Amino acid sequence: VTSYWLERAWTPDGTVDGLRVDVHDGVLTKVEPGQPDGAIRLAGLTVPGLANCHSHAFHRALRGRTQRQRGTFWSWREQMYDVAARLTPDLYHELARATYREMVSVGITSVGEFHYLHHQQDGTPYSDANEMGHALVEAACEAGIRLALLDTCYLAAGIGRPPEGVQVRFSDGTAEAWAERVESADRAWRDHRVRVGAAVHSIRAVPRDQMKHVVAWADDHYAPLHVHLSEQVAENEACLAAYATTPTGVLEEVGALGPRTSAVHATHLTDADVVRLGRTRTNACFCPTTERDLGDGIGPSRRLHHAGAPLTLGSDSHAVVDLFEEMRAVELDERLASQSRGHWPAAELLEAATHQGHRSLGFDRVGRIEVGAAADLVTLDTASARTAGTGADECTAVFAASGADVVSVLRDGVDVTQDVADVGVELDRVVRRIWESR
Ligand SMILES: [Zn+2]
Repeated sequence: VTSYWLERAWTPDGTVDGLRVDVHDGVLTKVEPGQPDGAIRLAGLTVPGLANCHSHAFHRALRGRTQRQRGTFWSWREQMYDVAARLTPDLYHELARATYREMVSVGITSVGEFHYLHHQQDGTPYSDANEMGHALVEAACEAGIRLALLDTCYLAAGIGRPPEGVQVRFSDGTAEAWAERVESADRAWRDHRVRVGAAVHSIRAVPRDQMKHVVAWADDHYAPLHVHLSEQVAENEACLAAYATTPTGVLEEVGALGPRTSAVHATHLTDADVVRLGRTRTNACFCPTTERDLGDGIGPSRRLHHAGAPLTLGSDSHAVVDLFEEMRAVELDERLASQSRGHWPAAELLEAATHQGHRSLGFDRVGRIEVGAAADLVTLDTASARTAGTGADECTAVFAASGADVVSVLRDGVDVTQDVADVGVELDRVVRRIWESR
């Protein structure tokens, strides 16, 4: 048993001073007020580990590059495909490890990796069809982050159009072939603290009659199911033309909505879509810094919450990796859209970034500082230039802090704190290698 003394902590009972916690086998076995003697001191404000519920690790190579020459959505997509075409299992592993280390450095202890880069450059599978997935599992292991590998079915360039160009790397041909590959991945990784989940890339990339196989696999394994939903207006228009209903309507028809499901973005929704997502308790995974970067729009986060759809957060394209920024962006974007303040209390945003996020990845016992939960503890400096004088409570975490204020990270009781300078060197090296390859 290892004992920690938290100078100040955000718990289900609010912010408390002087909390003594015992950790046994990665789990919190005692959480009560106490004295620091004999315990490891964590000075500052400690919050539960953060969950980054939507990541494409390889997009990290695009930061600061896709914004050149103004950077439209289409120039972004071209560069994204360029990187996707260059990656070998080796480069994918190295980039993902550096990206996950960046995440850990800002207090993220679980990541949901929306993984669709499955096959070789010409579309044929590697001798082990899950070689690219293995690269991610190893990367997560080495970085010390908990991984939900959301293996993504991607079969089409658009509704009724076969994969084009680099997209052949993404496609298994049919959803049944996808399920077969994922089944063997699930068997291989079950013992490695990896949660294998399912993903439908989008209603554009998986034909409606194929979706049922993905949904069935997730149901059979009681696994998380993630899907990009209504990120852009054009997607809704194509869907209405082909299926005479919205993307949310299609997901409802194929039985894809529910509390194990996360609708990623959920930006352009009808009133009926909000009701459908809320009634089924589908998670709404917002990625505000990416949605901002791509010019997607502002989704109805608070209306979804009122309807019953819990909020979760992701950094998606990694234009920014900082869940503190994502948390406040949800409220600040609502303010801009509504021209009024006060939609989300800070505590609810922190709950979305911690417990609710982990739950949506299939990690039910992670994300709270309470007995029986995983010992994921993230400590913030409350005396930095950003945080000093802010009260050191949940409002500090949500409206003042940045990832740079994270001074200590425990995942399952293991100290995974990163040396930030070191992470920078590793990122620089691998991103250069990628752009210089070929
Ligand atoms: Zn995405």
